[in-house]
Amino acid sequence: MFYFMNEFITTSSAQTKKIGAMLAEELCGGEIICLSGDLGAGKTTFTQGLLKGLKIKGPYTSPTFSIIKHYRKEFPISKSQFPKKSKNSKSQTRNIYHIDAYRINSKDLLELGFKDFAGKPNSITIIEWPEKVKKIIPTTALWIHFECLSDKERKIVLSIKK
Ligand code: ADP
Ligand code: MG
Repeated sequence: MFYFMNEFITTSSAQTKKIGAMLAEELCGGEIICLSGDLGAGKTTFTQGLLKGLKIKGPYTSPTFSIIKHYRKEFPISKSQFPKKSKNSKSQTRNIYHIDAYRINSKDLLELGFKDFAGKPNSITIIEWPEKVKKIIPTTALWIHFECLSDKERKIVLSIKK
């Protein structure tokens, strides 16, 4: 098993958003991204940068009260990217799900259709408080841990098992 880790220290919320936007560049669909860490550690701030990087229009409100926020993005298919796609489809839909699992458990998330969208090639799933629903998170998920070092400093650790 290959274990990849990468660590960043940011000194502003703008920097944390930038790391989120950088990650957006690397995503190709099907990813499940778990954001762990205490309240105020920067999970939602990071998600805002990630959504912006995915060209989703704001405002990005926290999903705390809705549990799951669903964003849909149509993007054009360039011929070089998808040479074998059907001639008729000029765009493809990508679904982005932002989940706040703080008040729920695995069973609740399954009832909300987690298995129907998470990990599907056209979806990107972002989960805050993933510990609460750890039982149902595939081992292939990307984990990002946030830690407060001081008022403005945050440690961000990315890890993935392959
Ligand atoms: P969480 O979702 O983990 O509870 P939020 O992203 O909602 O955390 O809140 C993080 C808070 O910390 C925000 O008020 C943000 O402005 C502040 N902050 C200060 N420095 C940073 C930093 N380096 N990275 C992210 N947020 C920071
Ligand atoms: Mg949050």
